[in-house]
Amino acid sequence: SKVVIAIDGYSSCGKSTVAKDLAKLLNIIFIDSGAMYRCVTLYALENNIIKGGGIDEDLLQKVLSEITISFKFDAQTKANDTYLNGKLVEDKIRGLDVSNHVSAISALGFVRKKMVELQQKMGETDSIVMDGRDIGTVVFPHADLKLFMTASPHIRAERRFKEYKEKNERISFEEVLENVRKRDHIDETRKESPLRKAADAIVLDNGEMSKEEQLDFIVRELRN
Ligand code: C5P
Repeated sequence: SKVVIAIDGYSSCGKSTVAKDLAKLLNIIFIDSGAMYRCVTLYALENNIIKGGGIDEDLLQKVLSEITISFKFDAQTKANDTYLNGKLVEDKIRGLDVSNHVSAISALGFVRKKMVELQQKMGETDSIVMDGRDIGTVVFPHADLKLFMTASPHIRAERRFKEYKEKNERISFEEVLENVRKRDHIDETRKESPLRKAADAIVLDNGEMSKEEQLDFIVRELRN
């Protein structure tokens, strides 16, 4: 039967990694909702909608309908690649430029409205695991299982820092930590669907847990 799993939590706490593994294990669809907000941000950056630190909200609202986001599963790399208007953007949307602006873009009510509609449509027919900030609270309030993942800002920044280093991005640990803290703050204090744990979500602090332990934990919760 159809199953919907919602995974929310802070940035860089491994939500997508766990969600991906879980999707593989259960043979269901995985959607990274953060990638969708990142696509809108990339589009805004590439089309001069973000400039001089400000967002041209009227323009973004006008062109929002021109933005199409899709995911394609790459059987070879076992990755769910993100496409923006038909172009593969998986690497670009993970870059620092997008990371620095995505929280401001995702704080806009009209952006959230469109993303939530798209996300709900994705969960209508198929079993799905989706990760993000408002999946258990807004997108799928009736999910079969809701998880809220956390880890300390330091641990999360360390993970991100390692990823950046592997990609040869020039960035200091302090800058990454600052970005993590700043995003947490914006996500928690924004007016539109702030990041918070759904009342019926189960907390998973994975700071000291291996991938296998996290999966075991979730599968056990799913059976309960
Ligand atoms: O999960 P990820 O860090 O890639 O998400 C990027 C940003 O998108 C987050 O910092 C958050 O501001 C926003 N986001 C959101 N709601 C979601 C998923 C992501 O506001 N469901």
